Amino acid sequence: MKDKNPELMEKVISLAKGRGFIYPGSLVYGGLAGSFDYGPMGVLLKENLKKVWLQMFRDERDDMYGLDAAIIMNPKVWEASGHVAGFADPLESGEKFNVMFQTSVGAGESAVTSYLRPETAQGIFVNFKNIIDSHHPKLPFGIAQIGKAFRNEISPRDFIFRQREFEQMEVEYFIREKDWEKSFEEWRNKMKDFAKAVGIEEVYELEVGDGDRAHYSKRTIDFEFDYPFGRKELWGLAYRTDFDLSAHSASSTVDLSYFDEETGERFVPHVIEPSLGVDRTILAILLSAYREDDLGGESRMYLKLPKEIAPLKAAVFPLLKNKPELVKKAKEIRAKLQKEFNQWIAWDDNGNIGKRYRRQDEIGTPYCITIDFDTLGENPELLDTVTVRDRDTGEQKRVKIEDLKEAIK
Ligand code: ATP
Repeated sequence: MKDKNPELMEKVISLAKGRGFIYPGSLVYGGLAGSFDYGPMGVLLKENLKKVWLQMFRDERDDMYGLDAAIIMNPKVWEASGHVAGFADPLESGEKFNVMFQTSVGAGESAVTSYLRPETAQGIFVNFKNIIDSHHPKLPFGIAQIGKAFRNEISPRDFIFRQREFEQMEVEYFIREKDWEKSFEEWRNKMKDFAKAVGIEEVYELEVGDGDRAHYSKRTIDFEFDYPFGRKELWGLAYRTDFDLSAHSASSTVDLSYFDEETGERFVPHVIEPSLGVDRTILAILLSAYREDDLGGESRMYLKLPKEIAPLKAAVFPLLKNKPELVKKAKEIRAKLQKEFNQWIAWDDNGNIGKRYRRQDEIGTPYCITIDFDTLGENPELLDTVTVRDRDTGEQKRVKIEDLKEAIK
């Protein structure tokens, strides 16, 4: 288990910075608490993670709709949702402190106070009617959205676990009230499947008690993860009842009910909400993937990331960088793979092959492909073959160039 490694958190933070996953925000000015920037490897990892989420939560189903709502909304949204009155954490003084970031919209006397959204969910609720009117979905159906959220956390901490600016992947799934338990179970299983798919070692479910749930929720499960700083929330799953649509109907006076053409009933749908933080997921993935072992008598560190989310699918190496025929062939192979996989394939011609393997291991690249003299036909039997080396086992096998795509798929 990872928590046997007492320095794991420091090692992951250092790796994240050193290998271009995540940097402290505004570092040249000494940083800014709760703010982080994703570097080249972090961007790729994050994009791949979102792809898997979109695939599992939106695209492989036929009852889901996408959305990309604005970050700054009419402030009445946050009054109706209860955030203006209640989205607060206590200060040490005991005073209440609302964690929404205020901003001023417009100029001079016409300026109004609004907020950077503290959750993406409300953008979905205020678009419920738009999606009904434009797409006429039948219940049950859901709306999925990925986007930034902002909370002026009193004490941001633990790397990207508690930030002031972070990203959420949220679904609001609209149902008939009688179906809530069934739907809750369905999304609960989906979240567990997702944890497995992205390589999170283990999630623990915590049934949130009556006094501890948010004002809108009749049932909440926190999915927790064993971070080195303790078992803490990774994601949440909530049954939000009809609270939000009813609140926005009452406040806006726009009817946000649903009309069932078959039964002739009109009612406000209830909602199940799987809410997943992108950044906490990335932290859990990095902590789960971090490995140290001995390979061929040498100690090494590697990231055992699932292939689907590793930043790079493969790296291509010419055995020697001063042999133009090797470099030419390696470039051809790399270009071919980039085209076939429609993504960036790494290139490294610097130093000995062992060092190049280590560099790719540290960022979790599943396969390294080496082009050597046999590729060019020095041994005629091996003409047009390359070595493919596996990140986890270190094993190498000889593969025909024409079979490479299949071998690393
Ligand atoms: P916590 O109790 O840890 O503050 P929360 O219960 O307020 O979290 P939710 O409002 O349920 O969190 O938000 C949904 C998800 O968004 C969380 O499960 C988490 O993954 C993510 N999240 C919330 N706050 C932050 C934050 N400050 N930094 C990074 N991710 C966050």
